[in-house]
Amino acid sequence: MPWPAAFCYVAVAIALAVGYYSDTSTCLWRAVTGLPCPGCGMIHACLALARGDVHAAWNFNRNSFVVVPILLWTGVQKLKGA
Ligand SMILES: [Zn+2]
Repeated sequence: MPWPAAFCYVAVAIALAVGYYSDTSTCLWRAVTGLPCPGCGMIHACLALARGDVHAAWNFNRNSFVVVPILLWTGVQKLKGA
């Protein structure tokens, strides 16, 4: 595995862990402007979808209903070697 891919996997794992165990936002845009970005709440929404909690995912970030299927499709394509 090339090191940039490994770095991305580690970064995603850290972001998921921080999102799971923390209620504080890790969004730089929100920290600077005080306004939510289109990705705010995405980690919580993805984790809620992984738990099967569709209502919570909808409330955290509605964009997760677009992003999660794309990520799953991309992951399956990657596993298939396409
Ligand atoms: Zn954000």
